[in-house]
Amino acid sequence: MSFKSILGQSQPKKILTNALQNSSVAHAYLFYGPDSVGKKMLATTLAKALNCKGADPLDACDECESCRKIERRIHPDFFYLEPVKSTPTAREASIKIEAIRELQKKLAYLPYEGKTKVVVIDSAELMNPQAMNSFLKTLEEPPSSTVLILISANPNRLLPTLLSRCQGIQFHRLSSANIRTIIQSQPEGEEEPLKESEIDFRVHRSQGSVTRALEEDIAEVEHLREQLLEVLEKVSFERMDIVFAFAKAWARQTEQLQPVLNELLGLIRDLALYRSGCSQSDIQNGDLSVKMIPIAESHSLKAWMDRFTAVRNTQIALSGNANPQLFLENMLIEFCEAA
Ligand SMILES: [Zn+2]
Repeated sequence: MSFKSILGQSQPKKILTNALQNSSVAHAYLFYGPDSVGKKMLATTLAKALNCKGADPLDACDECESCRKIERRIHPDFFYLEPVKSTPTAREASIKIEAIRELQKKLAYLPYEGKTKVVVIDSAELMNPQAMNSFLKTLEEPPSSTVLILISANPNRLLPTLLSRCQGIQFHRLSSANIRTIIQSQPEGEEEPLKESEIDFRVHRSQGSVTRALEEDIAEVEHLREQLLEVLEKVSFERMDIVFAFAKAWARQTEQLQPVLNELLGLIRDLALYRSGCSQSDIQNGDLSVKMIPIAESHSLKAWMDRFTAVRNTQIALSGNANPQLFLENMLIEFCEAA
């Protein structure tokens, strides 16, 4: 994609195109902000623009050999690193020091085919500590004709010394209008075009994220929301069976846990909004209003806020090495208390 055809992110685009215009592109950038809002796309576009053989020196043409090779990640001067799992069953993927060393070897040479080497490190916070320290050396003595771009949705997990050597560019969630345009511009393929109601559903639930808008499995979401609303409606000290059944069922599915807790947060947010009398347009799960309004009314606003906090705290604990079953039980006991 060229800068002019990317939707949203006007500020990051402006910073980068100005830098291209003034030949003041930094040695190192940190693109930070929510997942799936265009960070990787803009990093790729910057790499293309820096090496494009097309007519416009300040943008990517997307058609020349260089742009096409970068798009397919086969350009010899474009390096893309992302976390990988050491074994298929490993809990979390990471970027290891071997990958950084390999990269450093390649950066020692001048650009092979293009004008500028560009390195993109996606989910940079998942570099392990040795990898971060090793990469720090590259940032301290940046190789010539090289632009380093770190991408992160959690920049607070990067070493401060690493952060201080990058120019930070903040990305924001995409507007509903942009998400709608992106959904509508998807090639239809063999499937039937989306119904307007489904587009509305996807826009409302996207939270400004393209992946979420495009990839969510609606049937799966509907089933999960039903299960979660039942927990929110019925859990109490009289119904501890729900606590134990829920904790046991989800504790084993560690990969699914954060998305499930995100869904739970979204529902509690909506219930709190219904409880405080907000209008339908602010609600993400507005299609469930008939079911949700009575549930919202059954608890105080404070109880919903307490439940929200309990879920957030559980998410934070589970992003470390906490025991999922124990923390899920604890979260639901806090739900019981917040009556
Ligand atoms: Zn080009």
